[in-house]
Amino acid sequence: MATQKQGVSLIRGGRLTDTAMRRAAPTDILIKDGVIVEMGLGLAAPEGAAVVNAEGLLLHPGLINAHTHGHGGLGRGQGDNFTLELLLAAAPWLGGGRNLADKKLTTLICAAEMVSKGCTAAYDLYYEFPIPSRDGMDAVAEAYSEVGMRAVVAPMVADRTMYEAIPGLVDSMPAPLQAEVAKLRLRPPEETLGAIGEILHHWRWAGQDIRAAVAPTIPHHCSDGFLCGCRDLAKKHGVALHSHVGESKVQAVVGMRQYGKTLVQHIDALGLIDEHFTAAHGIWLDDDDLRIIRDRGASLAHNPGSNMRLGNGMFRLRRALDLGVNIGIGTDGVNCSDNINMYEAMRYASMLSKVQTPDPSRWASVEEVYNAATVGSARALGFKDIGAIAPGMKADIVFLDLTAVSWIPHNWTVNQLVHAEDSCGVRHTMIGGEFVYYDRRHTRLDIAKLARDAEEARERLERLSAGMHDLYERLRPIIESFCPGLAMEPYHLNRYMCDAPNNGI
Ligand SMILES: [Zn+2]
Repeated sequence: MATQKQGVSLIRGGRLTDTAMRRAAPTDILIKDGVIVEMGLGLAAPEGAAVVNAEGLLLHPGLINAHTHGHGGLGRGQGDNFTLELLLAAAPWLGGGRNLADKKLTTLICAAEMVSKGCTAAYDLYYEFPIPSRDGMDAVAEAYSEVGMRAVVAPMVADRTMYEAIPGLVDSMPAPLQAEVAKLRLRPPEETLGAIGEILHHWRWAGQDIRAAVAPTIPHHCSDGFLCGCRDLAKKHGVALHSHVGESKVQAVVGMRQYGKTLVQHIDALGLIDEHFTAAHGIWLDDDDLRIIRDRGASLAHNPGSNMRLGNGMFRLRRALDLGVNIGIGTDGVNCSDNINMYEAMRYASMLSKVQTPDPSRWASVEEVYNAATVGSARALGFKDIGAIAPGMKADIVFLDLTAVSWIPHNWTVNQLVHAEDSCGVRHTMIGGEFVYYDRRHTRLDIAKLARDAEEARERLERLSAGMHDLYERLRPIIESFCPGLAMEPYHLNRYMCDAPNNGI
């Protein structure tokens, strides 16, 4: 394990994943200062090069997580039968009481999981209540930097709570609960926009490929003025925008009621959608919405695990691919998808396209899913030099053990990557020419200490957020009955459910 970010190394004899071939064939890869410079069989090792023997290993480009939340790490396993709206109601309980060290710790847990499961870059929408802070976002960036990952870190923001954003929800509560949720009010938009401006102005991580972005969380949780403020800040600082668009049917119904048009049409009219925009989930979008995303050169982050776990419905992957939308694949956060395993996300993406129709010509192929989790996600993150193993690309390479049981026997590489690999095969993960995970161990992180720190935080936070847990339990029956009722509203369903007749209607 002699490779470093700087210097020359030669990976010898590993089998290279290639969608054009059924079975990966061996090749050598020469890396200089973290970038792939040459590939081919029988490359000579330059003097002083570190030689990595990769015989018996399968190489694939680091998977790229197009949508996740570092703040979710400490919330693992906290809830069952969460809908999206219940999860949002649980946020003050799941994320409450955290100090700066906790903000880093929760992200470290996620980053540690990602590199151990073959993922080398992530788009992280990070939430701090009641307002994002420079220290908080630095703590998140520090976590990615320590683990050695690339990332796009976006403060996730709004100027309306869910209670303000869903008409009628508060009215359905008894007065004492109304008073409680009124206390959760967010800071005024100017204040939050000012905080984002500070974060972007002082961002010092871009040189490590940890970039900043802005995430107005859900369109109708933001006033138009606030959305435009986010847009202007992103433009001014040359960073990207990311938002959850049409994740739950409640969002689609409320958006249509509020704007008289779809959420995509609304934010497009405000000028948010361009090639630096990523829409997460996109389940409740119609074909015209997908065309807008395509025409603007924007991306869509598909999160199949979370979509199923929260009961949000099925994203029409085949339709979006046919319309030419750039698709990335994400896991979403640990608190709504339980793990951050991009192999699982690929498998789910494939299967979720198949379960929508018995006609296999309308399913996504394993090659399409694999491309989405690599080059598609890279584009969503705004990186041009990751997502593939090729000369000129950064050396973000995952080494899978072909003696792992998912590869016995090794018949069809990409099919087994998407459908059979579950991360048990990951032997090493290299980012920028450096092994950040080697022989199934983190090289930059003391995982036993991480576990101790997490346990200490868990106990403390459980105490600190007991009141918020209690509030959640009081809100739960109301949200549980009100929101599904709203989602039953028939809202021009036939337009976009044309090839997904089972989408909960
Ligand atoms: Zn999300």
